[in-house]
Amino acid sequence: MSRLVGAAYQVRQTLERAVPLLATGALGAAVTLPSEAPTLAHSVVGGGALVALGAWRIGARKRAVDDLERTLADLELLSLALVGVVGAALGLDGHLDGPVYGAVYVVVGLAAALARPAATALGLVGLAALEGAFRLFSGRVRPELAPLLWHVGFAAMFALLNHVTLRAEITRLRSKAQHRVEQELERLHDAARRYRLLGAPRTQHGSKADEERLARSSVEEIHQAVLFALDLVRNTLNLHTAMLLWLNDSGSHLRIAELSTEGEVLDGPFLAGDGVLGAALARRDRVTLSSLRSGYKLPYYGGPCPVGAVCVMPVTEQGELRGLLVADRVAPGPFTEREQEVLASAVRQAVRAIANERLFIQLERAKVEQGKLYRASEALGAAVNEAEVVEAAVRSAREFASFDFAAVTVHDPADGTHEIRAVSGDGAEPLLGARFTGNNGLVSMVVQNRHTLPYKGELEEGRQVVFSDRLEMPPVASVLVLPLMMHDKPLGTLVLGARRRGVFGDAVRPTLEVLARHVAVSLANARMLKKLEDLATTDGLTGLLNKRALLDLATSKLASAQRFRRKLSVVVTDIDFFKKVNDTHGHDVGDVVIKGLGEVLRRCKRNTDSVARFGGEEFVVLCEETDSKGALLLAERIREELGRTVFPTPQGPLRVTCSLGVATFPEAGKDWESLFKCADEALYASKHGGRNRSTVWSPSASKKPSAA
Ligand code: GH3
Ligand code: MG
Ligand code: MG
Repeated sequence: MSRLVGAAYQVRQTLERAVPLLATGALGAAVTLPSEAPTLAHSVVGGGALVALGAWRIGARKRAVDDLERTLADLELLSLALVGVVGAALGLDGHLDGPVYGAVYVVVGLAAALARPAATALGLVGLAALEGAFRLFSGRVRPELAPLLWHVGFAAMFALLNHVTLRAEITRLRSKAQHRVEQELERLHDAARRYRLLGAPRTQHGSKADEERLARSSVEEIHQAVLFALDLVRNTLNLHTAMLLWLNDSGSHLRIAELSTEGEVLDGPFLAGDGVLGAALARRDRVTLSSLRSGYKLPYYGGPCPVGAVCVMPVTEQGELRGLLVADRVAPGPFTEREQEVLASAVRQAVRAIANERLFIQLERAKVEQGKLYRASEALGAAVNEAEVVEAAVRSAREFASFDFAAVTVHDPADGTHEIRAVSGDGAEPLLGARFTGNNGLVSMVVQNRHTLPYKGELEEGRQVVFSDRLEMPPVASVLVLPLMMHDKPLGTLVLGARRRGVFGDAVRPTLEVLARHVAVSLANARMLKKLEDLATTDGLTGLLNKRALLDLATSKLASAQRFRRKLSVVVTDIDFFKKVNDTHGHDVGDVVIKGLGEVLRRCKRNTDSVARFGGEEFVVLCEETDSKGALLLAERIREELGRTVFPTPQGPLRVTCSLGVATFPEAGKDWESLFKCADEALYASKHGGRNRSTVWSPSASKKPSAA
């Protein structure tokens, strides 16, 4: 049925979509098929219909949401335009071989530029149909195929050429724009590298975009500050050129970093050993020359020397030679001591601007890092169990480094084993839950030595394993194993891996180590919480639930039994003549027997049953969805199993028996107190009936319960 409805809907939609094209086709037929030229009235009506249809479809083109709708709308508009032009040609020229027909090529050309290619191709088919209808069926011209083919072929050529040239132009413009963007970025990175603003590979701190924005604003700040200083000294000292030259990494060349000049200066780079520049670098001291003749060669001027004096000052940062400040002027007189001092202060100004920006970037980075660490510690603080801690750890680590693989291992100091508690990444799933003993792998070594490995953050293929020889991890080039340290005790490790090289460089390691400490604290907290919960709900001797936990459980199970009208039974057990066991064999043996009964209960109960030690040698089993028959079967199984159990004692093997009482909701009682009281009565009946037996409480025989 629904398929039928679907098909009907499809048909309706297709028909609806075809309406504009059908209307255009009808209009085309009305224009081309009649044997008479159209009257003025016909032309006006046809033109009006065409304009109305066009306006409607332009609206549809604007609203089109997908490719198909857009192509269809393009086709509709193109068809309408062609009908209009053919109609105009027939109205004005009376045939399709006159001057007005030329407008068809204009329309097709425009379509090739603006419309989807499929729409243009289909539009050409429409043109062929329109013209064919006129030539073959109107009877107004001789029915010939050749002119039709010429026209359509010509239009197709026109469309194709237009399309190809347009695409080529778009591609050219795009690649030009792209090139310009790349150049601009490269220039920015050059400058940022030059001033050592990029402390680390670009992608590792924060997002690439953030880092670029930061570098861009800092480069701009430096540019403004240094240029201001250069302009200032040039104006005050009447200089021809004032510029800052910067050494490349190898120290072989000098590039112009900032320039303020009245004339023309070569772009560089300039050899670091050349002329007066080389002299200043080699001496690490200022060099001044005066009374220069036009034949003197200054490396940064192309033609004859336009200046009479020059002063070159080395620029150093923390004792390291970084570049030169060059100042020259037309007047041949030497730079005075005072002038040199002014230049030296310009150098200091430039160095300070660079240092300030570097500091600013470092602070910004630290701020971003701190924000992330804060978010990470919030997420970790909110995690209350181990799974949540591990999840938050991996999620937070992603903020600091991009990795493809992550795992958390937990170390058990009691037996020296490691267990992989969590994994993330493609192909990592099989590792989950794997255990391995201490070995030469990175995880074992990190736990042993308590510091992050490997030193370079890269895996030495074939020489290093992460977990163990047996456990293969997805292929990675970079790897980092961080210890999860809590009070100098290693709880385990956080393992990160990436397919790319150089992901865990010096820039990210310290932060990841801080994160690992947070993770360790949260992990220890989660464990502590679990331990406290366990302590509060379990019995120390048997590891079963304690009385309080069972009472909580009983309340909720009784409520749901009531809501869903289900049965629920309580079995109470008590060891027979237990005082005698204690008296004869001692309290320790008594404890062993209590533990033994605990294990019997654990073995006999179903998954949905809950067992608790209620005190002394009394236990209670809460059986969901169990009537008294089922509970009695369980009670008997417990009784028989305990009867078969032999406890070794120094005085020889010991066997004990127990008595049991069963009561079932709702017959025996609707709340816990009455239910338990009935079970206890049934137990009492078992004891009085001779012990080593089970009794079900029943209402008729509440004084004399039936015994098994
Ligand atoms: P009955 O057959 O009537 O149950 O006789 P009984 O001797 O077992 O009597 P009852 O159940 O009242 O005795 C409980 C004894 O269990 C009293 C106490 O000495 C002993 N007991 C209680 N808690 C512990 C325990 O944690 N360890 C040991 N070894 N004995 C316990
Ligand atoms: Mg007892
Ligand atoms: Mg007893």
